[in-house]
Amino acid sequence: MDFQLTAEQRDFRDGVLRFARRHLADGALARAHDPAYPWDVAKSMAANGLLGITIHEADGGQGGSLMDAVLAIEAVASVCPRSADVVQAGSFGAIRVLAEYGTPDQKDRFLKRLLAGEGVISVGMTEPEAGSAVTDLRTTATPHGDGFRINGSKVFTTHAWYADVILAYVRYGPGVGGIGSVLVDTKSPGVRFGDKTAFMSGEEWAQTYFDDVYVPPENVLLREGGFRRQIAGFNVERIGNTARSLALGRYAFDAARGWALQRRQFGRLLAEFQGLQWKFADMKIKLDAGQLLLYRAASNADRGFPSPDETSIAKAFCNQAGFDIANEAMQVMGGLGYSQDSLVEYCMRRCRGWMIAGGSIEILKNRIAEGVFERSFPQRP
Ligand SMILES: Cc1cc2nc3c(=O)[nH]c(=O)nc-3n(C[C@H](O)[C@H](O)[C@H](O)COP(=O)(O)OP(=O)(O)OC[C@H]3O[C@@H](n4cnc5c(N)ncnc54)[C@H](O)[C@@H]3O)c2cc1C
Repeated sequence: MDFQLTAEQRDFRDGVLRFARRHLADGALARAHDPAYPWDVAKSMAANGLLGITIHEADGGQGGSLMDAVLAIEAVASVCPRSADVVQAGSFGAIRVLAEYGTPDQKDRFLKRLLAGEGVISVGMTEPEAGSAVTDLRTTATPHGDGFRINGSKVFTTHAWYADVILAYVRYGPGVGGIGSVLVDTKSPGVRFGDKTAFMSGEEWAQTYFDDVYVPPENVLLREGGFRRQIAGFNVERIGNTARSLALGRYAFDAARGWALQRRQFGRLLAEFQGLQWKFADMKIKLDAGQLLLYRAASNADRGFPSPDETSIAKAFCNQAGFDIANEAMQVMGGLGYSQDSLVEYCMRRCRGWMIAGGSIEILKNRIAEGVFERSFPQRP
């Protein structure tokens, strides 16, 4: 097994790091506290080939691998944690599913704007009554003329407020087999948002309502039977969440390490207290272990979708590790770490959300356990 990056990967990562230092270092703290989608970052990343990293060149992307996109998240997050969300939106999430399953016409109408950093796409899976049990979703797609009428609502949809288009999971018929997806133009009549509210991380969300929204046939992405294909693509999104968890944990670790090497109490550097050294040792073990799991899942996927098992193991570990590391880093930095003057408390708050989003740690562990016992454990009574 070779754990080294190739020369090409190192060059790519170093190039992204140079870009981040030049364009993202200034304003990193302000960006973390601004809930708005950072359009300036998106446009600048588009101009520098950092959107569509995992998308084929024929579709306007960079033709890179999942590992390349992970390296980009790591490099960007090490300078500006918030900007890593733009790498996620541009290479990992619904954009990747659209690129995989969309028709040439859909790519022409939607993908171009997304890759130019002029638009953003959201994925609407979760509903008030369908969280972890996502296949309980109730949003319906009923035939109307050549297209469909969409009725239902979605919650917690990241960036929905700013999105041109929502890739919405819908129900064409009963059961898991009845689920597919459509591209809802957010300017369509019948799309409306509830009151804006915020997560602990500061990210905004608003319940999205689809009241008899007409979706023309050319905006259907996957018909009934599409759920498994959809979730296969969603594992790419999970790798992005995994990478950001670990990268924000690392950001906090580096900040705390720097602080421990300059802050003196009782006449000694913090780094000289064994009680704190062991915290750093534990953090480092988690960072290294998480990175191996993340890189395994990403590099085995190459230019395809990652394995569900490797993704689940990496995400469950890195979501917990990222949070634990950021939390300990905050402790090491004392009042300063807890203050909004440092990005460490931001990293901790963001990491906490990924323990829930995109398949909670518990749901991922259910999947891992199924692999252990080589049988499925239905969760329903
Ligand atoms: C920051 C953030 C961003 C998000 N972005 C999006 C997005 O862009 N699009 C989208 O569609 N959704 C999004 N979500 C929603 C997210 O996918 C759901 O919150 C998640 O699936 C959990 O659903 P729930 O919140 O309804 O919790 P519930 O499903 O009600 O679960 C509550 C708790 O019970 C546990 N639990 C549930 N079932 C089991 C079980 N069988 N075994 C063990 N434990 C179980 C869960 O792990 C959790 O701890 C986001 C959420 C967050 C926090």
